[in-house]
Amino acid sequence: MLQQAAQILKNYFGYDSFRTGQQQVIENVLNMHDTLCVMPTGGGKSLCYQVPALCFEGTTIVISPLISLMKDQVDLLHSNGINAAYINSSLTFSQIDQVMTDVENGLVKLLYIAPERLENESFRYKLSRLSVPLIAIDEAHCISQWGHDFRPSYRTISSLLSLWEVKPTVIALTATATPSVSHDICSLLNINESDTFITGFERDNLSFKVLVGENRERYIKQYVKNNSNEVGIIYAATRKSVEALYESLLKLGIRVAKYHGGMGETERTTEQNRFLQDEVQVMVATNAFGMGINKTNVRYVIHFQMPRNMESYYQEAGRAGRDGLPSECILLYSSSDEQTQRFLIDQSQDRSRIPLELEKLQSMVDYCHTEKCLQSYIVQYFGEKESKDCGQCSHCTDERPKTDVTKDAQKVLSCVVRMGQKFGKTITAQVLAGSRNKKIENFKGLSTFGILKSMNAKEISNFIEFLISEKLLLVQPGQFPTIYVSDEGKEVLLGQRKVWRRVKVEQTVIKKDDP
Ligand code: ADP
Repeated sequence: MLQQAAQILKNYFGYDSFRTGQQQVIENVLNMHDTLCVMPTGGGKSLCYQVPALCFEGTTIVISPLISLMKDQVDLLHSNGINAAYINSSLTFSQIDQVMTDVENGLVKLLYIAPERLENESFRYKLSRLSVPLIAIDEAHCISQWGHDFRPSYRTISSLLSLWEVKPTVIALTATATPSVSHDICSLLNINESDTFITGFERDNLSFKVLVGENRERYIKQYVKNNSNEVGIIYAATRKSVEALYESLLKLGIRVAKYHGGMGETERTTEQNRFLQDEVQVMVATNAFGMGINKTNVRYVIHFQMPRNMESYYQEAGRAGRDGLPSECILLYSSSDEQTQRFLIDQSQDRSRIPLELEKLQSMVDYCHTEKCLQSYIVQYFGEKESKDCGQCSHCTDERPKTDVTKDAQKVLSCVVRMGQKFGKTITAQVLAGSRNKKIENFKGLSTFGILKSMNAKEISNFIEFLISEKLLLVQPGQFPTIYVSDEGKEVLLGQRKVWRRVKVEQTVIKKDDP
């Protein structure tokens, strides 16, 4: 059957081979195992159900919340000579009847429907009389309350599956699923966890860099000048910083465009087109820029500040190197970024999401402090189990030797314990530095007060962040996040585990084109 699938791939879609992960997913579906496929945007999820749909007898139902994309999908299938149709609120009753008649007559291989439609009893009855070998659930994270886009109508999908005497095979697809979301999808749709395929997140032409404590504006100016033959995007967190960066690049004589939500629509479109048509070299933008942009020759994406979570970061950074050529993704981090994001999260309307958002923010902060391979950190964050070091990120290529910092780590951990594990990292750093700040007077009697005097509070803060990213300290999220010692941290305190960190040297501006 896999051979037939490969034939279909070639004959209908014109591709010679399956991409990473596609083949395994398709094989699993062809063996009629219910499957969860987690693959990044652009990874090729559609073929994972379209190819099996063409291998099976009957009509495959595709449930998708994106009404505006249904027509495009169906048009694309038509242009490949595949009979497909859609039913959503944009059609009239008589158009819907016509589609259903075609489906009943076996003329439609793939039927796209919006989830709301499933709430209609008479429609469900009509579906129950069809021969349906496969149900594909696109944007499957919408079924989970833990996902970022929960849709109550998705909950009706589980009951849909019992409409038929022979239960159709199910394939759920999504680009973002944290472990709790994946778990939820599997339990609500009765998918075996072992039939989950998380794949394709690795982008081996991208080299990731995190730079802490740089003079960010100077770095960007120099980088852009050094790479004047290349096209890049610079993301900043606020409209104000977009404007400021834009102005300073303009002054340097760089061909630059800008994009943010505070600009009028006409101006935004003009700026976007200037970038798409290669009239400018750099786009400076907030995260409002980039959706649906398909510019393949972006050689670098620089983040002027840390974004709010790994999902946003990877989506934005992933706009580099769509053509497969080597490209750089650089994140310039400063500890104030965390405060900015914390503030923005705190402003959000939906209070119930705040704990989840803070947890995601912590993973983003950890990314900025880890010393592990950055590509591995990313793919593991998205749930891929197997990942090898990329060999090209700023950590894999870092040749500074690692030193044993177990003693300093023990000092920090024991200070956290002595402070009752109910304070945040800033206060802890001040206590360790022996700061004169009035707020910490109460801690003067602690044996750990000033025990790391050789470092300043900022360096200690960074060291604490490093210990958090190593999971030796854990963060209790909240309005005032506190830190406590993990089980692994306890092992360090007991001398059963060592801690290694790279020797700190002064940051230097990296010049890509310099000899
Ligand atoms: P997703 O739904 O995961 O965002 P799509 O299914 O839209 O991604 O696929 C993204 C692009 O990749 C499409 O243009 C598609 O035709 C192309 N593509 C998918 N699979 C293959 C393949 N095996 N070989 C070549 N191109 C592919």
